[in-house]
Amino acid sequence: MKEHAPARRKFIKQLALGAGALALPRLSAVCRPGKERLGVALVGLGYYSTHLLAPALQRTQYCSLAGIVTGTPTKAELWKRQYAIPDQNIYDYSSFDRIANNADIDVVYIVLPNSLHAEYAIRAANAGKHVWCEKPMALTVKDCEAMIKACRDNKVSLAIGYRMQHEPNTQTVIRYGKERTYGQVKSISAAAGFYESRTGHWRQQKAMGGGAMHDMGVYSLQAARYCSGEEPMAVTAQHLTTRPEIYREVDETTTFELEFPSAILAHCKTSFGMTMNSLRVNCEKGWYQLEPFQTYSGIQGITSDGRPLNATIDSQQAKQMDDDALAILEGRPLLVPGEEGLRDIRVVEAVFESARTGRRVVI
Ligand code: NAD
Repeated sequence: MKEHAPARRKFIKQLALGAGALALPRLSAVCRPGKERLGVALVGLGYYSTHLLAPALQRTQYCSLAGIVTGTPTKAELWKRQYAIPDQNIYDYSSFDRIANNADIDVVYIVLPNSLHAEYAIRAANAGKHVWCEKPMALTVKDCEAMIKACRDNKVSLAIGYRMQHEPNTQTVIRYGKERTYGQVKSISAAAGFYESRTGHWRQQKAMGGGAMHDMGVYSLQAARYCSGEEPMAVTAQHLTTRPEIYREVDETTTFELEFPSAILAHCKTSFGMTMNSLRVNCEKGWYQLEPFQTYSGIQGITSDGRPLNATIDSQQAKQMDDDALAILEGRPLLVPGEEGLRDIRVVEAVFESARTGRRVVI
């Protein structure tokens, strides 16, 4: 993205000057020095890869769509033609591990159904590639920990695709919380959901990691965590459904209340049965809100003293991938590392336990 250009030029200049000229950031083991763009391979060519990530990759400054992993030969043919992907950079799920020998590919981006994130993230790390993984990171704390360990053992980085943390209006409200611009945060409401009309999709299957909480609930949870700047201590949750014939295995709607150490309360909701997209933060000396707060574009809001929150960017996905690529190229920490995805899944497990037992669960 444009705002990084001076930093990148400075970095390339530093490289040209040689290591003695300035203390250089550590270059990742995977990336060749001087490489301008990271080659990204998308794993799983479904809705999000096809309609959001692949087009966004064309708009990035530090990434290129270098490879694909798909189980559908017709998709491989289509993508090959559309994005000029060479044959040797096209894999299926059984040849996937051979990606280890492909120098064109620096990053493997996992965009599969949720239950497959852990397996493919670990295989990508073992192939020596940086891993970007879609939300939710995985289905269990145990799997998240195994993913983090695999990336650590293989000295590759792990980023979770929480695009909102890269979005400027979201970054403003995170800063308000940190700097107490409106005083201490007192309560937060976050609601993220849409009417899911598909009925036979993996999003309705428990074994695939379906359900509203895994899909949209993590946005409400993330918002509560990044607006409070704290980790929740306890949760009370309920599941509801208006379509029990479809939502037999997974949650259609989940409400959860989070208690934070400084007495902040967050009221969160997620649903596959209702469309909702709002975030409100009440503080001692005012409030701010974003509505919508997690759509692909058009994030906007207002504060109690009338400040508009209406910064715009070209593409959230391009910004996220460029932020992550630049961090890797410059050896800086990622904005949303695996540990951040793990913190969410720890709470998600507690949400499910509370909804199942009807009790308040201490995290
Ligand atoms: P999708 O169903 O459209 O695509 C999933 C892809 O995985 C398909 O191409 C399918 O063929 C492939 N696949 C491979 N093995 C499979 C198996 N065993 N069963 C079913 N499909 C299999 O899903 P999607 O909406 O693209 O979501 C993919 C991931 O991206 C999910 O983790 C989702 O949470 C995430 N996502 C993130 C965002 C975001 O804004 N960050 C938006 C949408 C989806």
